[in-house]
Amino acid sequence: MACKKCGKKETIKAHLIPKVFCREIQVGKMHAAGVINSNKFTPTQSGIFDKQILCAKCDGELGELENYAAKTFRIIRTNYVNDADGIKKIPSRDPDLIFRFAAGILWKYSIAAENLGKIDLEEFSEDIKKYAYGEIARPSFFDGLFTWLRIYKGVSDIFAYRAPFPIKLEGVNAFRFLLGGMLFIIKVDANPFKPSPLSGTFFCNSSELNFSIAPAQFFEEYTDAKKLAFEVGSLSNFLDKNG
Ligand SMILES: [Zn+2]
Repeated sequence: MACKKCGKKETIKAHLIPKVFCREIQVGKMHAAGVINSNKFTPTQSGIFDKQILCAKCDGELGELENYAAKTFRIIRTNYVNDADGIKKIPSRDPDLIFRFAAGILWKYSIAAENLGKIDLEEFSEDIKKYAYGEIARPSFFDGLFTWLRIYKGVSDIFAYRAPFPIKLEGVNAFRFLLGGMLFIIKVDANPFKPSPLSGTFFCNSSELNFSIAPAQFFEEYTDAKKLAFEVGSLSNFLDKNG
């Protein structure tokens, strides 16, 4: 299969979920990693990959965005760990690189195999790809925000990651994913988001990188990960075998 970006014949083991995000996960004090998707728990420390979608060069370009995002999220988890919940700003990081990172994750999942959790970006796919690769400015249909799901104030541990999946927010088509402790909600829809208390963190309102911090306990990503982590035959089993 040829590279879906440039058509080159040789594709490589392209990461859908980069290794860097899998290695960081902790559940309680146990080192672990997992995807929560359709209640499936897939422990891995090496990432999730698809061998048939991208060549080395095209994978590498998205990889640079992923490394930038991973570093940014580490800075957030370190520097804001004792901050109160709410909206924050991180002036030293480039917002466009973070939004392009999000576009890259969605686009890769749109060209992934069905059994790896392929998503459908419909007619928006081409522009999301171009935006991810820096070929066009952010299209207005592509907007969103991210929130650090923090376990407790003072705790920077990450508990899970989650591949993108489609949701509807008051009739607006969006995708949701969790990487590096950050929950992304991305609109892929010509209609705008309704104004909300988090409007200030929407990409369209962020000339600097804005985000928010929220208690993880209120989110299914946390409650599901916890449930899955302690189920017999899932994580505990994996740790026994690999500990
Ligand atoms: Zn390529």
